[in-house]
Formats: sequence, structure tokens, C-alpha cells
Amino acid sequence: MENKEYDVVIVGSGIAGSIVAKMLTQAGKQVLLLDAGLEAGMAFDEEGAYKNYQDYMKSYFMAQAKVPNAPYPNVKDAQSPNVLDMTQINGKPDTKGYFVQEGKLPFASDYARAAGGTTLHWLGTCLRMLPNDFKMHSKYGQAVDWPIDYEYLKPYYEMAEREIGVSCDVSEQKYPNMGNNFFGKDYVFPMLKIPQSYIDKSFIEGMEGLKVSLNGDVYTPWCTSTPQGRNSTPNKKYRYANTAWNAAKQKLELQPFAKESDEYVPVGAIWDPYSGQRCEGNASCVPICPVQAKYNALKTLKSAKKEHLTLLSQAVATEIHIDTGNGNITGVSYKQYPHADSKDYKSGTAKGKIYVLAANAIENAKILLASGACKTSGQVGCNLMDHTVLLTWGLMKDKVFPFRGPGSTTNIPTFRDGDFRKKHAAWISPIDNWGWGWPTGSPDTDLDHAVSTLNLFGKELRTYIGDTLSRQLLLHFECEQLPLKTNRVTIDDKYRDNIGNYRPVIKYDVDDYSLKAFKAAKSVSDQIFAGMGVQDFTNYPSDEPDYVDGFVFRGAGHVVGTHCMGTTKQNSVVNSQQQAWDHQNLYLVGAGNMATLGTSNPTLTLAALSFAAAENILKALK
Ligand SMILES: Cc1cc2nc3c(=O)[nH]c(=O)nc-3n(C[C@H](O)[C@H](O)[C@H](O)COP(=O)(O)OP(=O)(O)OC[C@H]3O[C@@H](n4cnc5c(N)ncnc54)[C@H](O)[C@@H]3O)c2cc1C
Ligand code: SF4
Repeated sequence: MENKEYDVVIVGSGIAGSIVAKMLTQAGKQVLLLDAGLEAGMAFDEEGAYKNYQDYMKSYFMAQAKVPNAPYPNVKDAQSPNVLDMTQINGKPDTKGYFVQEGKLPFASDYARAAGGTTLHWLGTCLRMLPNDFKMHSKYGQAVDWPIDYEYLKPYYEMAEREIGVSCDVSEQKYPNMGNNFFGKDYVFPMLKIPQSYIDKSFIEGMEGLKVSLNGDVYTPWCTSTPQGRNSTPNKKYRYANTAWNAAKQKLELQPFAKESDEYVPVGAIWDPYSGQRCEGNASCVPICPVQAKYNALKTLKSAKKEHLTLLSQAVATEIHIDTGNGNITGVSYKQYPHADSKDYKSGTAKGKIYVLAANAIENAKILLASGACKTSGQVGCNLMDHTVLLTWGLMKDKVFPFRGPGSTTNIPTFRDGDFRKKHAAWISPIDNWGWGWPTGSPDTDLDHAVSTLNLFGKELRTYIGDTLSRQLLLHFECEQLPLKTNRVTIDDKYRDNIGNYRPVIKYDVDDYSLKAFKAAKSVSDQIFAGMGVQDFTNYPSDEPDYVDGFVFRGAGHVVGTHCMGTTKQNSVVNSQQQAWDHQNLYLVGAGNMATLGTSNPTLTLAALSFAAAENILKALK
């Protein structure tokens, strides 16, 4: 590959990079894709792919703490952040993990630097953003408006839903201010909804007709089933076979099935298309789905056109080179390590007509900063956002049997939008199927408490465990965060990794807009618990990493912002085409482009944007 000029060089094989690679190679373009992860993760043959995934499973089984990155190798040459490294920051930078945490609060989310990226351990919730999420400034006087709107993104959302294979029933989707044509006439998802859990059904019944007040207004909250990137029963009404480039129209389009009798076939495991065609309720979606019933980006990458795709693994992109005359990018430098944790590496430069950074919001920003690229706006690395997750938990009156099925199959969308966004953040409340696992470490800690503290044994122990575990309810309130210039990723010569690359230095905090939402969300939770007779066990210990003003929040893994999209080269890093304002042959893809966060998990939106980016690149290459 040395000296070869590709049509496009892509950095990163997560969902963003894989979608772009798939669309470009299928349109006949020559693509080089670099990924920092181990070569074993790139195996697509049956034996190699199966073996590698079973190795992930073994690491998962052996890990004491089943945190999101537990199954995946944390290679010193391309480290991943780990939530276990996040502790309170006491005035001086916390350098224990991969991140250097310099803010008031630790940024508490991670990502995976392995082939397939963070979708290896995502949950798979696939919500679209709401129309007003794109207009936060004009509608609510907060942050900024996007340069694109919901209607622009709608066809790309449909492509993303096909690519991921989203299971959901359109008729059940009811969100605030969604308008009359949110999904379009007769639209259906590729697959029917994943059946809601027993806990969902009990909760929905218990909440029926309940009224809660928020800022003096009275609401009747409702529940909807959650769209999910995991396989269920194909919807016979779904009509699209694929997304393809229409060269005559210069557009990507969803292609209808060739025959009336054709129907959507769920995409199973990469080692065997017949494994994982249905979610089996194994309940370990985060950190790993044993059968790959849950979407991960390896599925997309595997369907790229092999003849046009060159993969380079263990290759960590470090810098992009800029032609000082016209600002164009002339190459991407990378360091390729021979084996995990090696101090040695081979340097190389990849060349293409167009360059795409898809290494995720934090790594993209790091590469840009290390290269002195995209400098005009001064916004690179700024506006780092995540959903701040406030948990509340209690015991339901009756047994509801949590710990079954995917992490969450239902949510309360009532507070995703409304005039209150003038004052505080909106939120979505997923109802969790995983008991109190997240805040208290259930079920292990319950058993430990019963045996070590209550001295229970035999029948008494069984009765206690049966009675408490089976009534556990966990709600979480994923609050939007505004883009703040001060929440940012930077680099510092002092902090380098095993092969001399920069580590991300992060400054992070929450502002008043979020804090007010925590208070509001907790008050809504209190009213729901009181109305349903839930015994509240929520507590927020002051020694937790993200303890602030009497609350504890967690990271959601939704790493957003850092190279925001906007209307001018002064106020943003990329334009509405996702092209860097300062370098016309550089495209940045992924959640880094998102100007604001809204209340939907970001991946469906970044996937939709990645289809739009692929279309723009194909137009530029014509
Ligand atoms: C626990 C958890 C649960 C989540 N659940 C959900 C959910 O339910 N719904 C949702 O919408 N989102 C969810 N997310 C977020 C979601 O996983 C991410 O938004 C998404 O995977 C990001 O995709 P990406 O392609 O932009 O980046 P990534 O998936 O992070 O991929 C980046 C790729 O780039 C590679 N790379 C990185 N640096 C370099 C470099 N320097 N050189 C070469 N290659 C590099 C990496 O190896 C990786 O393959 C979750 C995240 C976490 C952590
Ligand atoms: S519930 Fe189990 S089978 Fe279904 S997606 Fe999650 S891990 Fe996979």
C-alpha cells in the first residue's frame, strides 16, 4: 500500500467509519481504512472471527467487574479509557487511566479502541432526535441551532435504521412535539419491536393516569417501547433491500426489494449469519452480546466491497499533514505496532484524495490538535458533551422480575422536549431491566449483604433474595448537556502513551442548566415512586466520582461534540456537509459533529450523518 494513493483514507472502523467505507467501496471507490485496534479484531473469516469473539467472551467471563470495556483488550499502544479509572479529582490532574482528567469533575464515559469500535459494547438504543433538538437557540434561547434540521436528516435516519437493523413499532412511538409526519407515511422499521419486559408492563400499568408536576405545570407521563439495534422478527411490511449510490441523481437511496415476496433478513453474527438472528435475552448487551444479535459495526464493515477496501490494523493515526498553500490534507501519519504493548512501531503515511476522520469525538479532536488542523474557529476539542445519567432506584410493591432481556425496552419520553428547556435540560427516562446493578452492584452485593450483614442462611436467605431482587426497579434520567467551550479535550506534551502519542487531556464539569435538571428529574422520580408505592432506596454518596450538589451522575458513553457543525468557519469546525471549513478534502464524521445533544442516544444520529457524509464525498469525487 506504500506510495499508493487511494480515493479515500478513513481513520476508524466504528459505525461512522464503517458506514462511509461500505458506501464508498460499494460505489466503486478505492478505500484505505486504518484502525488502532488489534489485527485479530479485523478477522472476517468464519474461523478467525469466531475465535476472536470467543476470546472477548472469555475475558468477559473472567473479569471481576463486568464494565463496558471488560471483554476487549486494552492495548498500551492504543489505550481505551476505562470507567474503573474514574475517581474524584482533588485539585490536581488525575492521570491514573488513559484520560488525563483536569476538570472539576471526571468525564465518566469510555469507548473501545478495537475493530468495530464502541458498538461492540453499546446498548443498542436507537432513538431519533426530535425536531426541536436542532433548534435549541431559536426555540429556547439556549446554545446554538444546527445548520441542518430534522427534515434534512429524515431520509438518512431511514438508511441508518436499515443498516443497524432497528426493531420497533412505529405506532407506539409518541414523543413530545414530534409533529404529524415524524416517521413519514406508512414507514415501518425493519423488524418488529423487541417484546417489552414484565417489569415494563408492571411499570406501565402502575403509572397509568399518574400526574406529576414540574415547574408548576402538570403532566401525565407516558411510556413508549424503545427502538433497538438488536434482531427480532422481521416486519413483513418493510420494503428496503439496501442503501446504494445513484450516480445519475448523485444521491444515496434506499433500494426497494427486487421481488414483492422478498423480506428483510436480520444480520446475524459475522462468523455465521444464522447465529444471532434473534435477540435471545442473554441480558449482557453491555458489555457483550454473545451471539451478536445486537448490532455492531463489524457487520457493516464486513459488507463493504472487499475488492475496493484495504484494511490496516494496529495502525494508530497520529497526525494529518496540511499543504500550507491551499490548506488541503496531503497524508495521514500513523504508527503501526507489531504486537500488543510493543514499544516498537513502524511509521507510515497513508495518501488519498479525500481523508475521513472517524476515530470518535475524543480521538478525532486529539488528531486535529496534534496536527494544528481546523484552527480558524478555535473550537476543536471544545463542547464535549455526554448525557449525564441520574439514577433512582427502589423496590416495587410486587415482584416484577428484573435481570431479564436487553438493558432497557421501554422509556418515558414525556420530558424530552418542552418549554422548560428555556430553564433546564430535558431528559429521557429509560426503565431498566437490570435491577440495581448499575448503582449498587446487584445482585452480588445483595447476596453479600444478606450473608455477611444479615447472617441469613438456607430458606431464609432464599426468601430474602427472592423477595428483594425480584422487586428491584431502576429508572435512569439521561439529561442533555449543553455545548460549553470550557468542557474540552486538549493535548499536552507531558502526557504521552506507550508509543509516544498524545493522551486526551479532559476538562469537564456540569453547569447550572444540568444541575437544575437533576433537581427537576429527582422531583419527578419522587412523585412517580410515591404514586406507585415504590419504596425509594436512592442515595447519592458524596465520595462517588461525579458527586455534585447533592447528586451523583454517571456517564452514558455518549461522547459528543468536539468538532461541531455550524454555519460559518468562525463558529464551527465543519460545515453542514461535514467537511472541515479549513481543509476542503477533509471530512470529520461521528458524534463530534453534533452541535447539541438532545435526549436521544447519539449513534443513530451519527450513523445518519455518516450516510450523508458518504453521499457528499461521492459527489466530491465524481
Ligand atoms: C456503555 C455504552 C453504551 C452505549 N449505548 C448506546 C446506545 O444504547 N445507543 C447509542 O446511540 N449509543 C450508545 N453508546 C454510544 C455509542 O457506542 C457510540 O456513539 C458509537 O459507537 C460511536 O461510534 P464511532 O464510529 O463514532 O466511534 P467508535 O465506535 O468509538 O469507533 C472509533 C474507531 O476508531 C478507532 N480509532 C481510535 N483512535 C484511532 C486512531 N488514532 N487511529 C486509528 N484508529 C483509531 C477505534 O479503534 C475504533 O474502531 C454507548 C456507549 C457506551 C460506552
Ligand atoms: S439481550 Fe442478550 S441476545 Fe439480546 S442483544 Fe442483549 S446480549 Fe444479545
